[in-house]
Amino acid sequence: MAQVVLFENEEHKNILLEDHTEGEMVPANQHLIIHKGRGMLLDPGGHKIHSQVFSELSVLMPPGNLKYLFFSHQDPDIVAAANFWFMMTPADGLISELWLRFVAHFGIDKMVFHRIRTIPDEGLLLELEGVHLSVIPAHFLHSAGNFQVYDPVSKILYSGDLGASIGVDYRIVGDFESHIEAIQGFHQRYMPTAKVYRLWAKMARTLDIETIAPQHGAIFQGKENVKKFIDWIENQPCGLDLMEDIYALP
Ligand code: FE
Repeated sequence: MAQVVLFENEEHKNILLEDHTEGEMVPANQHLIIHKGRGMLLDPGGHKIHSQVFSELSVLMPPGNLKYLFFSHQDPDIVAAANFWFMMTPADGLISELWLRFVAHFGIDKMVFHRIRTIPDEGLLLELEGVHLSVIPAHFLHSAGNFQVYDPVSKILYSGDLGASIGVDYRIVGDFESHIEAIQGFHQRYMPTAKVYRLWAKMARTLDIETIAPQHGAIFQGKENVKKFIDWIENQPCGLDLMEDIYALP
């Protein structure tokens, strides 16, 4: 557990609140963007970690200055403790319009539910004290209504489940080739079809990316590993491409 500064200048900070999960929980990263004192928390996580994440955030900024809670998709390791965050901060939530009425089942109070803003399929630009963060379409990576965030100041792409690694004990990817082992299984089984990788890679190449920061596991830092990841994912078979034969009765 640690706070890791991924980028910092006089008015802008990107901080990884490193994995607070334990036991059977899938490891998860929380990310914080602070610009001129106001913040956005990405994929805040579930009930077992919210108090730790909240106290870490409180050291970095007054929780009253949190402006956005971003939910890349509807999974419990992202949304489960949303109600806590709405109660404890004045932030607005952002999630795909596909999931609004599903996340209500996580017990989001009537009093705060109106603070959830839905993101249209095309994505949007989000203003944080003069900086425009891009909320970009990443549907089917892996969720049907799924978004990533690109921060033009730090040039970090917050990629959600794309790029996720499980079971690694390093924070930053060193040698990409030996990291493949930690990402391949997830990217073959959780993602639906290779077409989405090709479309995403084409879009990602139009962005100036220094860092790809996934919601699970190690971070790709530096243009070389960013490029290697994009080239690798573009040619990965996955999901249905590998599983056509499974559709038979057991
Ligand atoms: Fe997920």
